[in-house]
Amino acid sequence: MKIQEADAKQLLVAQGLPVPPWEVARTPAEVRAAAERVLAAGADRVVVKAQVLVGGRGKAGGVRLADDAGEAEAIGRQILGMDIKGITVRKVLVAAAADIVKEFYLAAVLDRAARRVLLMGSAEGGIEIEQVAAERPDAIVRIHAHPTAGLLDWQARQMAFALGLGGHVRAAVAIARGLVATMVANDADLVEINPLAIVREPGGDGTFAERLVCLDAKISLDDSALPRHPALEDLRDLDEEDPTDRAARAEGISFIKLDGSIGCMVNGAGLAMTTMDLVKRAGGEPANFLDIGGGARSDKVASAMGLILADPNVRAILVNIFGGITRGDEVARGLIEARAMQARSVPMVVRIVGTNAEEAGRLLREARFETAASLDEAAAKAVAAARATSGAPTEVSSVS
Ligand code: GDP
Ligand code: MN
Repeated sequence: MKIQEADAKQLLVAQGLPVPPWEVARTPAEVRAAAERVLAAGADRVVVKAQVLVGGRGKAGGVRLADDAGEAEAIGRQILGMDIKGITVRKVLVAAAADIVKEFYLAAVLDRAARRVLLMGSAEGGIEIEQVAAERPDAIVRIHAHPTAGLLDWQARQMAFALGLGGHVRAAVAIARGLVATMVANDADLVEINPLAIVREPGGDGTFAERLVCLDAKISLDDSALPRHPALEDLRDLDEEDPTDRAARAEGISFIKLDGSIGCMVNGAGLAMTTMDLVKRAGGEPANFLDIGGGARSDKVASAMGLILADPNVRAILVNIFGGITRGDEVARGLIEARAMQARSVPMVVRIVGTNAEEAGRLLREARFETAASLDEAAAKAVAAARATSGAPTEVSSVS
């Protein structure tokens, strides 16, 4: 689960990281009021930033500076409602504009292959790290944290010096360790600061001081660990969640959309992976990963069918159920119920084995479903059916 910059910054602050204060505004009037407070606190300028769960907001015109509250309000009016990479901006972050001396990149990511947290840093901050990785891979410094002790002080110092942050080594070490701490505390798989910036701030007596601060924050949380952090569930941005993902979550169905044309409905994650492999081996492309879970009743099967059919690319559906706690006849009833209600008719191939498979077979035959005895046969039939229907206009039944 990705969370918004403002929420990510909150998690950084909770770990003691230096983040300049901010406010969130949802209307141009709120932007003006926030800007007035920021300016009254002594800022010269205000930054207004779109809060959307995509990178490159700056390039898209979603990060703008204003000299006064009126300009901030006008910018707020432009950014709110703006479309950034297909997402409508509904809120903005308002803060004192930083006087940036230099931008860096620093992130903690989960390196699954190494089974460690990986700290990645670059002195080429501000721009997207993918671009740096593609053009100048040696400009990225990588340090694996210790598997149990976390990021050690000397490792953090090594990163600081490698980035040329020797003049800010204490702050850089604290930030590097704080990123790893934020990651561990929240079970995140990514905590990214881009830019981490040296900023110039007035010292009060007419002089200026330089300070290292987190100007942007991106955090991605491990969905599977969310039950351990009930409070983080509140940070889910329902405005930006895909409607199909939302429906799947509400039904307790694991669903991941893919690009192919064969919708798959399977019980069990391992069987779902295997089914996708077999579809590929038979020459097809799966349209999704879908695990209805153990013991699913007919209504859940019907919901799963709805999720699959919501994808216009689906040309055939392959149902593969291994009945253990899941009863085959329940699934068959769910399929029959779902087909009666579906607005779009697509060929379906069903393979059900295990608990109550005979009863399931009888129900499906009566309802004239295409069945298959083996998984290979089911995959082959589904791929053939998808080929036969692709390009043809989809049949729409009178029931909506
Ligand atoms: P992103 O484009 O979505 O990653 O959004 P960022 O928050 O990283 O902002 C993009 C760029 O805008 C940064 O790399 C900075 O160059 C610039 N920027 C962001 N905040 C400020 C600020 O407070 N002051 C100044 N001068 N520039 C900023
Ligand atoms: Mn950024």
